[in-house]
Amino acid sequence: MKLIENYNSVADSIPKSVTLVAVSKTKPMDQIQSLYDHGVRDFGENKVQELVEKSESLPTDIQWHAIGHLQRNKVKYIAPFIYLVHAVENIKLLKEIDKRAQQNDRIIDYLFQVHIAKEESKFGWYKAELKAVLDSQEHLQFKNTRLRGFMAMTTNTKDQNQIAAEFKSLQALFEEYKSEQIDTLSMGMSGDYPIAIAHGSNLIRVGSQIFGARN
Ligand SMILES: *Cc1c(COP(=O)(O)O)cnc(C)c1O
Repeated sequence: MKLIENYNSVADSIPKSVTLVAVSKTKPMDQIQSLYDHGVRDFGENKVQELVEKSESLPTDIQWHAIGHLQRNKVKYIAPFIYLVHAVENIKLLKEIDKRAQQNDRIIDYLFQVHIAKEESKFGWYKAELKAVLDSQEHLQFKNTRLRGFMAMTTNTKDQNQIAAEFKSLQALFEEYKSEQIDTLSMGMSGDYPIAIAHGSNLIRVGSQIFGARN
């Protein structure tokens, strides 16, 4: 298993200012533990049940990132421990996160997921809708949550120009709204993180490049 080598080769290729989240979905606990023993603390998962099981069995100082589509009725299971929710795509979900955060006496950090891909199937806000929320400060009514930035996924294509254009559109939004608190731009995965970083990403979510292909 070249796990540590793989991790190091990604980590060594990116600026120190970029957070590398190791996307461990479908991968066994012992591999996460090996990376943890190597000093890695940021892990990403997209299934609630898996997040809960892993968080219960692995060291408590791991920073768990919920990176995938999150159903409202499952927020309660991750609210006690989640470090950052990447995919807040509507106000109803945010309201639920706020409610569960309050019950757990926590402030939960989150990102708004933005729809930048051409594909209809990708989740997230359209920019105009999101700007309306940000400008009206509708999200600030949820006192047990804290907006930290934006997240997006690109169209699944080999066309590098298209990917760059999509990242660029989110970079522009981030530049417009960034602040001391809104400081995180989560974009880039195994196949496209160098382009994402070139367009201002400061958090990349890398799975297969570290852990190998998933089944
Ligand atoms: C699976 C996943 C990743 C990691 O994908 P890789 O191509 O394996 O690096 C990143 N972000 C999200 C939202 C994912 O679901």
